[in-house]
Amino acid sequence: MSLVEERISCPLGAWSGEPGRCQLCNQLIETTRRRTWCSNKCAREWQRNHIWRFARSAAKRRAKYQCQQQGCTAERRDCEVNHILARNGGGYGPGCHHHLNPDKNGVGGLEVLCRAHHATVTAAQAKARAAARAKLKATETKTKTKKLKPVKKLKKRL
Ligand SMILES: [Zn+2]
Ligand SMILES: [Zn+2]
Ligand SMILES: [Zn+2]
Repeated sequence: MSLVEERISCPLGAWSGEPGRCQLCNQLIETTRRRTWCSNKCAREWQRNHIWRFARSAAKRRAKYQCQQQGCTAERRDCEVNHILARNGGGYGPGCHHHLNPDKNGVGGLEVLCRAHHATVTAAQAKARAAARAKLKATETKTKTKKLKPVKKLKKRL
């Protein structure tokens, strides 16, 4: 998806795709100094939901620099930001995957975790990913075996 397509489809924004309108709130841009956003407010709002370094600091500020795991006693500022929906090596380029809050189905969003909890969560995500891969591989092997069977029968008949 291109950046423009993503801005049009972004559930946080209302942009129709028309040039000269704010690419977040879709208001007509009155001043000639701006092209993309109607105001600093809209520019900042877009940045902190789509650009990793802005999203990361916004998530930390929102969590008051404290790990969000229940009962965690880690010190303030011992905090890192986690994509609740694992990026799976998807990278940190700009996009809707940095939305601060989950979507309307409760999927995604950012959470703040201390270094220890972040490591635990990341390890669990990697484990789940490995399990999913292994399952996929098993299914593939099964399919291959099935395909081979008719060939064997054919050989016997010959
Ligand atoms: Zn705007
Ligand atoms: Zn978005
Ligand atoms: Zn913690």
